Formats: sequence, structure tokens, C-alpha cells
Amino acid sequence: MASDGPEPVGSRGTGVLPSRSAAAGGTEPLGAVLDEVRLGDGGSRAEIVRHTGLSRGVVAQRLSDLAGAGLILDTEFAKSTGGRPARRIHFNAEAGTLLVADVGATSIDVAITDLAGTILASRAEDADVAEGPEAVLERVQDLFDEVLAGASGADGAPPWGIGIGVPGPVEFATGRPVSPPIMPGWNGHPVRDKFVERYGAPVWVDNDVNIMALGEWRAGVARFHDNVVFIKIGTGIGAGVISDGYLHRGARGSAGDVGHIQVTDDRSVVCRCGNIGCLEALAGGHALAREAQAAAADGRSAYLAQLLAAGSRLTARDLAAGATRGDPVCQELLQRSGHLVGAMLAGVVNFFNPSLIVIGGGVASAGDQLLAAVREAVYRRSLPLATRDLLILPSALGGRTGVIGAAAMVADELFSPMHLDTTMSRSGMTDRGGRENTVRVGSPERENNVAQPVGGTA
Ligand SMILES: [Zn+2]
Repeated sequence: MASDGPEPVGSRGTGVLPSRSAAAGGTEPLGAVLDEVRLGDGGSRAEIVRHTGLSRGVVAQRLSDLAGAGLILDTEFAKSTGGRPARRIHFNAEAGTLLVADVGATSIDVAITDLAGTILASRAEDADVAEGPEAVLERVQDLFDEVLAGASGADGAPPWGIGIGVPGPVEFATGRPVSPPIMPGWNGHPVRDKFVERYGAPVWVDNDVNIMALGEWRAGVARFHDNVVFIKIGTGIGAGVISDGYLHRGARGSAGDVGHIQVTDDRSVVCRCGNIGCLEALAGGHALAREAQAAAADGRSAYLAQLLAAGSRLTARDLAAGATRGDPVCQELLQRSGHLVGAMLAGVVNFFNPSLIVIGGGVASAGDQLLAAVREAVYRRSLPLATRDLLILPSALGGRTGVIGAAAMVADELFSPMHLDTTMSRSGMTDRGGRENTVRVGSPERENNVAQPVGGTA
């Protein structure tokens, strides 16, 4: 399948569930069989036939193709309780590596993972996204080079794909940020092209809340839910939306930008997006840090005043620490933030009817008080039918949510019907063999054609 030319703009899901891709019938059998092996826990041929609804002959042929490309492994004699041993088919996650980065407002997290998103090596450091794309992306590249050099599973082979999350809206088709409020200088910056040039691998860029939603959905608390809202409360506030088993990006990639919903008409509340009264301007980490500073300066909070006197630059994390220690001003400020977020989410719940809301991000992870306030407001203000089975849970993956989700995004794209052919030819080139207790069916094809970077013309 050719990948020259930009992908269509829109909400094509990256989180294809096996049941969905197979049941849809229109998805290519090759992708359906691979998804069944890749996203399930491995299974027998008979199970793959049953789960995909494809004929035994088609499944056998597709498994042979996938084995030829080194993408699956066939365990020869699995333990059995009697009778003929069943052969188990596994995804060969070690066939290649992915490079992923989660660029937050105040931090950079990078990792090298296998094709199943298992982290092989990672690095993290503080950063300020407001320093602009040149400086920040150079740090990402330096950290990429470090994990490439340090991962034992990588052995110098180029990555199969690269995924990058940034804290603002991204036009997914071109991999360029679009007027991101907390990222001065990033508007329209060719983030994707820069990495395609340097690493010669296909690159996907997305809003960090989208990849965090994917991470929780693939490997965290949202695994068994098809309608999920992941809300990130960090320096900014945003949401990633899984709708009926697909990541919903919206027509232009800005779905879930809930931080800029207006929650007050107080003209003194000016948001960094230029509007008045945004949720983020009242309840985000930036706003909380400002409140913490004020409460320390005028002595309302003894705890914060002490930190300020010791020379600290106060952050939302200090507020959370103060709340945990029982400081009433810190508790009140966090509760107010939680109630504002919860009131907004109540509207989202009425509109979208998710079965799960996952709360993550730097501010949210700092304490239970905020989560309790969010819960209280959502349950109080949403319609009873919408909250009957609604769960509101903290992120299970914490600081790793973004990189795990970025790996899921890249793998889903590499193995999507649009890119699978290119990925398989690349696979033949770089396959490094299987695990000790398994044998590969067929032999990998060696080809010299280099995979075209996705969207390299964009
Ligand atoms: Zn705003």
C-alpha cells in the first residue's frame, strides 16, 4: 500500500480492537489476523479463525505471510494437559523497536520500546515547552540518541516508527501543532518532518492527551471500556476521547480541548489562549501555582509561606503536598479546582455518556483531594442515567502513560491497512530473529526497498 501523500484528515481510529476490525468485515484479513495475534494474548489457529470470522484457509495463508515477514512466532510444543499439544501463535514484539516522546509543558519523557510498547529504556528531564520547538526538539533528539545507545534490545537498528506527543492541538494528518496556547512559537512547526529527516522512519505526532488516552486504553485502567474520557490536569487541561472503540480526534484534530470551555464571565480571568474565563485559566496547574504564590505571600497558608521563605518557586505540586499535610488553604484551592473540572465534566458526561473517566496529569497525580472533588461534582451535576455505571478513576500508568500511549499509536499506524505493506517490507529488512523457545514459520524475506516515511511530502 502506498504511503506517499498525506493521510486523510480526520478521526480514523488508531486503537483498533480485534473484535471490531474482524467484525467490521471490510478490514483486510491480513490486518485482522495480525491484530488478533498482536492485541490478544496469542492463541491457536482455531481461536483466530473463531475470533476473526475468516475461513481456516484464509487464516492459514495470512499467518504464513506474517510469519514470512517475521511478525509472528509459532510456539512449537506448548504445554498441554493431554492429547495433542496446541500450537500457540504470538506476536514477535522483538522484531523491531519504536522511539517515543511525551513532551509536556514542563517535562520531556522519551523511551525506546518493542513493537508491543514494552519499554526497553527511557529518559526523563525537566523542560519548558515555551522555549520553542528548536530547543525542545533538539533535547528530544539527544534523549532519543541516548536511549538508542542504551537499550540492550535495540542493537543499533533503526526504529520502525516514531511517536511524539505535544501539549496542544495537532493536525494529525501533517504532524504540525495548530495554535497551541501554551506552546509559543510552535504553531505550524514541522515536527514530523524534522524527525523523518533525521531517523528515516515514519513519524506520527499527536496531542499528548490523545496518546495518554490510548495508553490507558491499551495498557491501563481503561482496557475494558470502549467509551472513555481521559482528562489531563497539568499545566493545561485537556481531554482525550475514546468513542465506541476508536480514538476520536475530530474533524481537524482538536476534539477534547475542554480546557478552553468558558466557566466564568469574570473579565479578570484571562486565559493564555486569549479568551476570557477559560477553565484552564482558573483550575489548571499554572493558575494553581499563581494562587499558591499569592496565599504564601499574604500569609494565608503557613505551609506555603514557609516554602516561599525557603526560596522555593511554588507549584501546583506544593499545593497538593500542603493539602495532604492538612493545610486548609491548600485543600480549599485544590477542591475549587476539582469542582470546576467536575462541573465541566458533568456536561461532557451528559453529552457523551462515557463508562469511564480517567484523571491524570501532573496536578491530578499529586493527591486524592482533587480527584474526590471532581467525583463529587460529576455525580452531583450529571444526569442519573449517564452516571449509573460511570467510573471515575485515577490514571494507572502515571508518568509513563504518554510514552506507552505513543508506542500504541505508532504500532497501530504501522500495522493499519494503510501502512501494513510498507511495514512488512521493512520488517523483512530488519528482523532480528525470535525467542529461544520458539521457531519461526517460514523464512523472512530480505528486501532492499526502504520504507517511505509517512507523510514525507506533507
Ligand atoms: Zn483558554
